[in-house]
Amino acid sequence: MPYLYPFDPWASTLCTCPPKWSLNPYTGCGHRCLYCYATSFIPKFYEPRPKKDFLKRIERELMGLPKGAIISLSNSSDPYQPLEEKFSFTRIFLERLVSKSFKLLIITKSDLLLRDLDILSKLDVVISLTITSIKRASLMEPGAPSFERRLFALKELKKRGFKCVVRLDPVIPGINDEEIMEVLGEVLPYGDHFVLSTYKAKPDSLKRLCSAFPEKSQTLKKLYLDEGSLLRGSKYLSYERRRKLLYPLIERISAQCKTYALCRENLPEINQRKGLCDGSYLLQNHF
Ligand code: SF4
Repeated sequence: MPYLYPFDPWASTLCTCPPKWSLNPYTGCGHRCLYCYATSFIPKFYEPRPKKDFLKRIERELMGLPKGAIISLSNSSDPYQPLEEKFSFTRIFLERLVSKSFKLLIITKSDLLLRDLDILSKLDVVISLTITSIKRASLMEPGAPSFERRLFALKELKKRGFKCVVRLDPVIPGINDEEIMEVLGEVLPYGDHFVLSTYKAKPDSLKRLCSAFPEKSQTLKKLYLDEGSLLRGSKYLSYERRRKLLYPLIERISAQCKTYALCRENLPEINQRKGLCDGSYLLQNHF
């Protein structure tokens, strides 16, 4: 399997992302988010390791990529997880992109990316920061930087003119749903585009959430296992609950004339244009 591969190998009809290439410099992730879906298909996910021969292979694979291709870094790990401080694979990869025609999407929870602003400023890049909670970030995402550090990174990026996407993803009933409007209030001035989604349960992630929040365990099981429905291998909240969680956020974002998208939410009445989802429309000359 190549390290640079077409995004969404499952060809999900729920996904409205444009064609792009996915790259994970590391296998697994040290941010250890309880809700992470990648743990369900990548063994030893919370024991992250650098990809073997990454730099050598990536040089070769970049040569085979079409001109103007969008590279998404990363969809099944975090390019700025703690390992990056030691190995710098992400930074070295970014250096390889300077003066090339590729476009870049970065998705991270870490302010470590501020280290690379010198290179990022030379690239056509849109940066997505995932920010889910003020009070419970250290419980939900025990290895990731705090809310304050992520907010600081977002403000710095905005100040320096980067295009920024904020992912309020996932909203989990009983865990962060009551504070998600407050989170939105903090980040709204700095994001150009917002991606929203509700938590989709996999057996292992639901188990982790239930043991970290035992007082919410019955509610989560009822909402997902009893009332929810199975869609493409994940348990979704009921349609009504997903609407109820997401619509107030949509209204507030729309009131500020900012764009938003839902990620694999299956709410077809929301007219979601292809390519709006991941914020790639913010790339220079993309549409
Ligand atoms: S940062 Fe992303 S890939 Fe890493 S554990 Fe959290 S959800 Fe999973």
